[in-house]
Amino acid sequence: MSVKVTILIIEDEKNICDFIATTLKAQDHKVITTGLGREGISLTASQCPDVILLDLGLPDIDGMDVIRQIRGYSSIPIIVISARSQEREKVMALDLGADDYITKPFGSSELMARIRTALRHGNAASGGGNMIDRPYQYGGLLIDFDRRLVSVDGEAVHLTQVEFKIVSFLARNSGRVMTYDTIISHVWGPYADDNNRILRVNMANIRRKLEKNPAEPQFILTEIGVGYRMAEDETR
Ligand code: CA
Repeated sequence: MSVKVTILIIEDEKNICDFIATTLKAQDHKVITTGLGREGISLTASQCPDVILLDLGLPDIDGMDVIRQIRGYSSIPIIVISARSQEREKVMALDLGADDYITKPFGSSELMARIRTALRHGNAASGGGNMIDRPYQYGGLLIDFDRRLVSVDGEAVHLTQVEFKIVSFLARNSGRVMTYDTIISHVWGPYADDNNRILRVNMANIRRKLEKNPAEPQFILTEIGVGYRMAEDETR
């Protein structure tokens, strides 16, 4: 990330807030911090940050309300800072319009990857998205959207229509978590049964075809209780 960005951290846990601020300042980014939700909302309006990192458990108002209020007037990328085993909260935050989450404890490289992805999608949404149909590439995996071709280490892989739809949707959103419901409604339509079973069956088949070791996937990662995340495209 060579461009200098402004990042607002809304987090009342001082250790985490300090760790994030130090990491980002070391990359030469401008950092604004607050431990209060209300102040976070007013800082968002007055400082126009490029990305917001938001803890859900704040002392004054619920983090969900912070997302709701900010989404009322802004599409600034919001990354939720959450604890392990808060799957329901993660899904709810994503449904309310958060872009992604990062699970405590996290390291600086994971933090920077999340921010980079959020910025990339923020830019794509605001008009810089003409590279969207460039092939996806990560490790030996190549996906050519226009020609509907998938290959691993140069070997063509045959996917069914549905499998290709799932894989290309995840690849177009690489680096970001996509919830089960979001994937299901994209692939099978908004009135599809929201039962995850058929998605999991398809994913098992996809992994058998793409991954060297389907039990330890490197291309499509499982976010337990939430959805799937495709490894971030290396070429963007
Ligand atoms: Ca907290």
